Amino acid sequence: MSRFLSKNLESLAPYTPGEQPSERKYIKLNTNESPFPPSERVVEAAAEAARSLQLYPELDGGHLRAAIAEAVGVRPEEVVVTNGSDEVLNLCFKAFCSDKSPAAFADITYGFYSVFAEYNGVPYEIIPLKEDFSIDPGDYCGIKKTVFIANPNAPTGLLLPLESIERIAASNPDNVVVIDEAYIDFGGESALPLIREFPNLIVTQTFSKSRSMAGARLGFGVANEELIADLYRLIYSTNPYNLSRLNMAAGLAALDDSERTRRNCAEIIRVREKTAEALGKIGFEATDSKANFLFVRHPKIGGKALYERLKAEGILVRHFDRPRISDYLRITVGSESDMDILIEKVKKILEENDESC
Ligand code: PMP
Repeated sequence: MSRFLSKNLESLAPYTPGEQPSERKYIKLNTNESPFPPSERVVEAAAEAARSLQLYPELDGGHLRAAIAEAVGVRPEEVVVTNGSDEVLNLCFKAFCSDKSPAAFADITYGFYSVFAEYNGVPYEIIPLKEDFSIDPGDYCGIKKTVFIANPNAPTGLLLPLESIERIAASNPDNVVVIDEAYIDFGGESALPLIREFPNLIVTQTFSKSRSMAGARLGFGVANEELIADLYRLIYSTNPYNLSRLNMAAGLAALDDSERTRRNCAEIIRVREKTAEALGKIGFEATDSKANFLFVRHPKIGGKALYERLKAEGILVRHFDRPRISDYLRITVGSESDMDILIEKVKKILEENDESC
């Protein structure tokens, strides 16, 4: 830290992204990326857009904003398009949280929420999940805070039913409720239709997971027009050109190929269930994940030890050294063959572990 860094930022603890190693080729099951490449159409559209890179990109999400609106059945004014959904989430902390409306989110959830709150200097309350890691909607009802819920939650993968989201939004009419649906396409039901009924509800989604575009950085938020205008006010106060020509063109092409997205999601769900079953047979406990990852623990080996042993075997998974979940691993659902290798390696590690006990 230099002596020039603002005093206000000295205590900021940045988010720790999953490892992105370059020294060795791993089977990468640690950052919830898709095992499938984007479609050729996406690649071609980005290459074509590169021919115009001398020009600034369109403002306000350009044509992509209207295409997303059409795809999710709302008007363009009800959509904000951002550089990954991390950007729209950060903007929500900035725009809708204050001393009067502190943020509220779970103790075990997307690690960026507390970083965004600290970064924006807004107070926040952490609400523990229940023993089984589910959310008690009652904890958020009438809470009079700006609520952030990842649904399905990360890293647990658990899904909150829409009735609970309705209850939370209805009981906090004077506060914004943000539903982060980064993983909704892997078996959940989106809260998008609820934005009609609840003017305080924002639903965020991403192109990073189900649309195989984590490297493009593209996300969006959907809400009533006034909330979206607030978010654009902030975008115009920081970086009006928040999207590149490349990611906008790629996004448009991905929307055009929604059949491929649907097929890929179905395959990931199939492999998820198959892997969960195989891990269950060798003694793992898993949450009922509706995301593109599994959240598991084994009674005979700690989370950190298993993470390290898998890394030595060339497989990267995610371990969180945090209270309540340090025994767990979050394992991204990769290709079927990668998951078969994972199971073999885990079996081998468990056998070695048994021998050394
Ligand atoms: N929300 C959750 C719950 C996530 O896990 C992630 C990805 N790490 C994001 C949002 C942000 O994803 P992106 O910025 O790639 O859209």
